Amino acid sequence: MELVSDCLFCRIIEGNIPADIVFRNDNVVAFRDITPQAPTHILLIPTVHVENAAALANLSPTLISELMIAAGDIASQQGLEGYRTVFNTGSSAGQSVFHAHLHLLGGRPFAWPPG
Ligand code: AMP
Repeated sequence: MELVSDCLFCRIIEGNIPADIVFRNDNVVAFRDITPQAPTHILLIPTVHVENAAALANLSPTLISELMIAAGDIASQQGLEGYRTVFNTGSSAGQSVFHAHLHLLGGRPFAWPPG
């Protein structure tokens, strides 16, 4: 699947928009969220353009697993004891960028139920 020129996260993958990248391999890029909701707030994205997590899981169960594995590795590197991982799907759930991304949040306590 091609990268999309008007997709913010595809442009970050290509290096056309700057980002504070903390991890990168052929399949996954992770960078700090520009509006952090916790002391550590990192976004993990696949290097293919797919709209949301369900589409990603259908495209490649392996790739969506790679995001979760990378999130765990980054959480360890960042010294996070506990952390929250979130996929927002659809605007009613808070999705604002329609390139699948996994939020990794940590460094503070989190309430449940979520807001
Ligand atoms: P969501 O609302 O789940 O679609 O998450 C999109 C996230 O992307 C939000 O948390 C934004 O703060 C974040 N974001 C938007 N633009 C950028 C950017 N240029 N660099 C890093 N994070 C961004």
